[in-house]
Amino acid sequence: MNTPDVVVCDAKPLRFLQRFYLIEVFKGLAVTLRHFLGNLFARKYTVTVEWPEVKREYSERLRGRHILLTRDDGSPRCVACYMCETACPAECIYIEAEEDPSSTVEWEKRPRVFTIDLLRCVYCGFCVDACPKEAIIMSRTHEMAFVTRGEAIVGLPELLQKGPVAKLDLGYRPYFGAPRSHISLPVPVRSVAPEIAEGSPVGR
Ligand code: SF4
Ligand code: SF4
Repeated sequence: MNTPDVVVCDAKPLRFLQRFYLIEVFKGLAVTLRHFLGNLFARKYTVTVEWPEVKREYSERLRGRHILLTRDDGSPRCVACYMCETACPAECIYIEAEEDPSSTVEWEKRPRVFTIDLLRCVYCGFCVDACPKEAIIMSRTHEMAFVTRGEAIVGLPELLQKGPVAKLDLGYRPYFGAPRSHISLPVPVRSVAPEIAEGSPVGR
């Protein structure tokens, strides 16, 4: 039964030459060859980014490798409250706390062990959102390669911010785009990117 809602699409009948198929096959191959030669000599149809020679400009809130921020005296801002570990859906954060002997507040804690398994991490940023001390932020460093599983588990020495963070390296951080926090976020920023030491897992 024909109704106005039913659209009947009849294939067009093949013309005489189309019935030989071989001609259509050669026409298709000609298109492939045109694209191949166009890309080989003039990059005419190339739409891919030729990484690593060419790098895309990523969003300012890209969620990359983590950074643990420090106070002015170089000690970690982290108070080992386990909020990030609890919020982490990938269960890739491991923290052991100890009492902070330098603290002026009783029972202040600091992390004795703080590790993140970067191969398990799904870079969701929940740890950044959960942190009450704005101690953990994310960088835009996402080019990481590891030879062994153990290399991917980074601890305090690798995570702690050492000196100002390059502006280009800053990624997702608390309250990104809306400064609603009552805690000032002293992320010291330098305008030029640091030299990355050869053999460092950062930037590999
Ligand atoms: S980014 Fe997400 S998965 Fe990775 S450590 Fe933070 S909470 Fe866990
Ligand atoms: S939530 Fe923040 S302060 Fe608490 S353990 Fe994690 S990084 Fe440290």
